Amino acid sequence: MVIEYLKKLSELHGISGREDSVREFMKEELEKYCEVEIDKFGNLIAKKGEGEKSLMLAAHMDEIGLMVKYIDDNGFLKFTKIGGIYDPTILNQKVVVHGRKGDIIGVLGSKPPHRMKEEERNKLIKYEDMFIDIGAESREEAMEMGVRIGTWVSFLTEVHELGKHRLTGKAFDDRVGCSILLDVMRNLPDDLDFKVYAVGTVQEEVGLKGAKVSAFKLNPDMAIALDVTISGDHPGIKKEDAPVELGKGPVVGIVDASGRGLIAHPRVLELIEEVSLKYNIEVQWEVGEGGTTDATAIHLAREGIPTGVISVPARYIHTPVEVIDKRDLKKTSELVLKTILEFPNFF
Ligand SMILES: [Zn+2]
Repeated sequence: MVIEYLKKLSELHGISGREDSVREFMKEELEKYCEVEIDKFGNLIAKKGEGEKSLMLAAHMDEIGLMVKYIDDNGFLKFTKIGGIYDPTILNQKVVVHGRKGDIIGVLGSKPPHRMKEEERNKLIKYEDMFIDIGAESREEAMEMGVRIGTWVSFLTEVHELGKHRLTGKAFDDRVGCSILLDVMRNLPDDLDFKVYAVGTVQEEVGLKGAKVSAFKLNPDMAIALDVTISGDHPGIKKEDAPVELGKGPVVGIVDASGRGLIAHPRVLELIEEVSLKYNIEVQWEVGEGGTTDATAIHLAREGIPTGVISVPARYIHTPVEVIDKRDLKKTSELVLKTILEFPNFF
């Protein structure tokens, strides 16, 4: 089921602050098994179980994208980036422009290399020098099509099978986490004697915002963030710089951003290790230097919340062609489920 969830969620669109369609799909699914509420900020909070102690799972619903900041006389759209985007990865991609009258297809254009001077051609093209072409011939026509300043834009990529075990698509960061969250909540028993809060957070890519406010509200005794992490098993990267590999199982974060992000709580790490040994689920341990997750915001809520992060390895993160391994996705879902069931032993 977790793979079907991912295929569906990846093709939905929701940049930071515009997570509506992702939230709607997850809400519909979760309402079958849990109590669900949406908070004032837009976070989706599902609950299963009753009791004094509580555990929070978090996966962010938002994806990186673009936003229109100017429409020129000829109907081309200039844009800003929402979230961390490395400019060369977006050039000449197809996008969906979410206009007032419905979705419009666009493509990212720039000055053709054939008309560049030698020194220009050797430089990377910056996003400021790109534009979105929606086929309009004037500003009036673009506006007539429903485009305004502030119209949001997401990438258009379908999910495809890649080889025997892999999938490629957009927004696996973090629809992977969302699909695990759905799968785990579906599989958890109803009669738990503690509370499990599954939170689909908003605005992670722009500063871990939804996690911050929802962790404050829920004040859980322990938390786990679900995300993707860099797999370094391809050309152009040294193993010692990114030792995590696709197909080798869930990744447990010990430290990220060299400790400036999350330093996982020792008891959370122990609990996950106990579970992985008990059920024979091979895990990869990670000490990261760049990048962080919702766990960073959660562990700093209130008086501090014991928090960990479990990730699925992914290639080409923050591009429209991310790649993951289906075996990792299944194993990670299993590890998270089993860890929740061991939660009473946390204390
Ligand atoms: Zn993420």
